[in-house]
Amino acid sequence: MSQKLESLNPATGDVVGIHAIDGPAEVDAAVARAREASAWWGELGFEGRKRVLGQWKGVLARRMGQLADVVHQETGKPHADAQLEVGLAIDHLSWAAAHAEKVLGPHKVFAGLLMANQAASVEYPPLGVIGVIGPWNYPVFTPMGSIVYALAAGNAVVYKPSEYTPGVGVWLAESLAQVVPHHPLLQVVIGHGETGAALCRSDVDKLAFTGSTDTGKKVMAACAENLTPVLIEAGGKDALIVDEDADLPAAAEAAIWGAFSNAGQTCAGVERVYVHERVYDAFLEQVTEQAKGIHAGAHQGAHFGPMTMPGQVEVVRRHVDDALARGARAILGGPESVGEHFVQPVVLTDVPHDSCAITEETFGPTMTVTRVGDMDEAVELANDTGFGLGSSVFSRTRGMELARRIRSGMTAVNSVISFVGIPALPFGGVGDSGFGRIHGADGLKEFTYAKAIARQRVRPPMLLTSFARSPKHDAAFAQVINVLHGRASQLPKLRRSVR
Ligand code: NDP
Repeated sequence: MSQKLESLNPATGDVVGIHAIDGPAEVDAAVARAREASAWWGELGFEGRKRVLGQWKGVLARRMGQLADVVHQETGKPHADAQLEVGLAIDHLSWAAAHAEKVLGPHKVFAGLLMANQAASVEYPPLGVIGVIGPWNYPVFTPMGSIVYALAAGNAVVYKPSEYTPGVGVWLAESLAQVVPHHPLLQVVIGHGETGAALCRSDVDKLAFTGSTDTGKKVMAACAENLTPVLIEAGGKDALIVDEDADLPAAAEAAIWGAFSNAGQTCAGVERVYVHERVYDAFLEQVTEQAKGIHAGAHQGAHFGPMTMPGQVEVVRRHVDDALARGARAILGGPESVGEHFVQPVVLTDVPHDSCAITEETFGPTMTVTRVGDMDEAVELANDTGFGLGSSVFSRTRGMELARRIRSGMTAVNSVISFVGIPALPFGGVGDSGFGRIHGADGLKEFTYAKAIARQRVRPPMLLTSFARSPKHDAAFAQVINVLHGRASQLPKLRRSVR
């Protein structure tokens, strides 16, 4: 057999699993099997797929504790946090299965006055086989955001988990195989970057990638060779802004959770906080008071676990050291907080705007807090980044207004990261955070193509797409266009606005 990959517990270094590495031949074979499975799955229709996905949901819910064990072992995160991500993934699976037909099934659309003789409809067939490449930080919730929406839309999936969490990927595929033993709807290919690259170059119909921006660029380049479309969910540098009228204890609690939970290894975690000068001191007081005692560890009662990827510790150290060397103050923790496996919470203030702790993704349990003169400045600083994944706003009166002004795919108002738990909301970013959406109706459509059908009901009185068309027809056509569009008219209001 080929080479092996050892999966380690990052808190202890213990080997928790050994897996054979898949090369291009194994990846291609998996995609070929998935192609056959996708034909069966597509034929099954929405109702049949909903039934199967409902059974899978039941298996996941009943065995949630076992899956959380595997996540806990491979990432080191507390068991309860692992269970939280599994539970949220199950909720998404439920939503995707229940809504696929409504979102993707045939819809009539108005053919327009010019084409009134036509019956027009649009529907969204599956693409076929979707390749999914996932990260290690939420090894269930994050890839399932692509996997379950792709499956519910009628595709088969070949999934390459991170080299740090292969066991979680294998567990997920085996749990679906329990329900559908004869059709490999979800297969896992294991390995390092080369295995991911082989999946990009395989015969998949779309590649859904979640990971860093740098790897996202490599994925796009490899997929470009076959014109394979891509969905890129990349990193972030999310801001939380606090207005003068905000509920400060709630804002501090949210900032602390957003920055420190999962050891800060959250793509939509809070990394920068901008606070109105009138409440800046009071906010910092709340943060230091509430963050007291929050700590990382492998023991019962620890609030979060180790850094899952050893190399990330050096990134966090560099960001903290650089900020302090350039005049920042640590009001909680400091350089000594960055250990070998664990990083304890760090809160930095007075961090220069161009330092790496502000400009680069830190992906550790740190937060920078910056005083701003008003919310215009807060929005300007929040938007002064190439990333654009998530954001949060705390304000009693201006939440929606400020949320709309932040350039990010998602914003939570008076809470943090809440958008990920609402299956109907699309998830994804702009700029360096990537493009395309998982979750919600957009997430289902992402794994389909739009199929437009125009069915002629009656022959039109004036057939314009014919060489039999006469100058009389042309004149009549010009007159119709003039009557329909010649005068500026008010367009109909189609949606109620949200306040
Ligand atoms: P990486 O970009 O290092 O890896 C992501 C995946 O890509 C892994 O499975 C990796 O395999 C694989 N990979 C590596 N090289 C290649 C290649 N050349 N071709 C194809 N695949 C490749 O990210 P991390 O795993 O370190 O995850 C952390 C990053 O993910 C952070 O930047 C975070 O912000 C982002 N993220 C984004 C989310 C979002 O939804 N926007 C959600 C969660 C995380 P291997 O592990 O074997 O190297």
